[in-house]
Amino acid sequence: MIGLVHIAGAVLRIDLGAIVANYHIIRKQAAGAEVAGVVKANAYGLGAPEVAAALAQAGCRHFFVAQLSEAVSLRHALDASGALSNATLYVLNGLQPGAESVAAEIGVTPVLNSLDQVDRWSAEAAACGRALPAALQVDSGMSRLGLPPAEVETLASAPERLNGIDLRVIMSHLACADDATAKANKAQTEAFEVLASRFPGVPRSLDNSGGSFLPRGHFNIVRPGIALYGGAPQAGSPNPMHPVVTLEARIVQVRDVPAGVGVGYGLSSVAGYARRIATIAVGYADGWPRHLSNCGSVFIGGHRAPIAGRVSMDSITIDVTEVPPALLYPGASVELLGPHQTIDDVASDAGTISYEILTQLGQRYAREYIPVAEG
Ligand SMILES: *Cc1c(COP(=O)(O)O)cnc(C)c1O
Repeated sequence: MIGLVHIAGAVLRIDLGAIVANYHIIRKQAAGAEVAGVVKANAYGLGAPEVAAALAQAGCRHFFVAQLSEAVSLRHALDASGALSNATLYVLNGLQPGAESVAAEIGVTPVLNSLDQVDRWSAEAAACGRALPAALQVDSGMSRLGLPPAEVETLASAPERLNGIDLRVIMSHLACADDATAKANKAQTEAFEVLASRFPGVPRSLDNSGGSFLPRGHFNIVRPGIALYGGAPQAGSPNPMHPVVTLEARIVQVRDVPAGVGVGYGLSSVAGYARRIATIAVGYADGWPRHLSNCGSVFIGGHRAPIAGRVSMDSITIDVTEVPPALLYPGASVELLGPHQTIDDVASDAGTISYEILTQLGQRYAREYIPVAEG
């Protein structure tokens, strides 16, 4: 087999040991709560089967995906290995009408977000002749998914609508968890406690990554995603998580560009001095945001090289005038993500969030997984 790492334009390394280390940091931080792994969107682009297997090995027993199709893929990838045999697999978006029998068959735990979903899951249980597990989401103030307070009341006063449903978790989601100063956090926490108290004895789950770092209790299960993958759980605070991804691209070509000569589509980059420009083998088709045109940076041997011109589909031009020439040759490695530039740095340059940088990472990279160290 051809070693893809040697011929790819860029190499994406995913450190599974760092993900597991982050899992342990969150366990300590949210002491008393079980820590689930949110592996939706292919584990934020990093590979759900690899990530889930590593987390399961570290003791994680609860996994969340967003869609039933993701649960089907993950089961397909991991059932043979038995990695998820003791784990509960939740589907955050719950059930589309008609999806109930597939969900029951593959043994997922849907997050029921509406009375309609409750009724359909209860009917499926009756049809199967056995109890089916579920989580119930209530809307504590984000107005996105879950039963609003009035419907919680309706359900709590007609508990027979839950017949056949083995209610494992009652949950809600925070709108402003990455901002510890936001008043909404306290309001949502209090609203959640009131709503959850209508289902006594059922384990509770409210916190995502940001919520897991709020200075209060964390209920029974926390549901971090981005913090496992190295993103900052709290915006504007030091990031306690280990970095997980590095991305290194290769230089394709180096050229000298005279003063006044434009670079790239639209000739949008022109300088009043003679420049050295290197072209690297990553573009927006690889998920490197086009918004970084003329504003992002990369690093070569620790030297910053600003992006000059527009990000193209398959390449980026960078100004390497200040980089030692010995580091500039075809095939040389350029850091896009790594010790000098985090996913949060790139997100901030691109006017987005680390979640989007990770989930857009492309399919053309040679992907390497650094395994969890033994012992
Ligand atoms: C995506 C998601 C999470 C994980 O959020 P992070 O901010 O990545 O930790 C948790 N709960 C729900 C309901 C989600 O949709």
